[in-house]
Amino acid sequence: MPKASVAVPEILDKLESFYGHQEPCWPTDPYLFLVWWHCGYPASDAACAKGWEALSSQVGTSPQQLLETPIPKMAKALKPGGMVPELRAMRLKEIASRIENEFAGDLSAALTGPLKDIRKTLKKFPNIADPGADRIMLFADIAPIAAVPSNCVHVLVRILHGKERENYGVTYREAQQAIEAETPATFLARKRAYLLLKRHGQELCKRTNPKCGMCPVNSLCAYFAGHLRGGTKTSSQRSAG
Ligand code: SF4
Repeated sequence: MPKASVAVPEILDKLESFYGHQEPCWPTDPYLFLVWWHCGYPASDAACAKGWEALSSQVGTSPQQLLETPIPKMAKALKPGGMVPELRAMRLKEIASRIENEFAGDLSAALTGPLKDIRKTLKKFPNIADPGADRIMLFADIAPIAAVPSNCVHVLVRILHGKERENYGVTYREAQQAIEAETPATFLARKRAYLLLKRHGQELCKRTNPKCGMCPVNSLCAYFAGHLRGGTKTSSQRSAG
């Protein structure tokens, strides 16, 4: 892996100057995040927000409300969030049932103790893997983990090393290590890094066809400079000069 000479704080400062201060657009309470996460499919901020809005107004989001509501009614409410609303309704029932039966209605109260145990608890919920557990722990102020947005793991790795890896887990870990090494281990700093990288991955540094010509960090980016791992410049790089 080529050694990166660019500092993560400089990248984040430039992204913040360009995009402004970022705030999470999802509920940061662990239980409510699990509900929100199932409000859209494929899960994106926009899809989850649409499903969340409809679910909140037509059903509600408490475990009791989810358990009392028949699947067809809940699926209808979840439809604005995208595909497989029936399956998502069943998942929400499963989550609500576990919150009531295993956690006495209070998931947050159970998320204490060693981080490995908290992670294990979170990963038992549907569709929560390590990136989701990291995100929940960071934004719920459980631990200042260097979480990386799960659909934007490529952003920092491209800038620092030229190209993301074929293996998602390796790319995630590389991005996480860079944040860990170069940002303070505080909730403020780690949330800021997460939100700025997420915004950049959604707006310009998309997984395919990144808009390098408009990018505020292209002067720092190894990918843009053409330092690819055995690849060539993308069409957007060529058109951007
Ligand atoms: S220059 Fe291109 S690859 Fe590099 S961060 Fe910007 S958009 Fe992403």
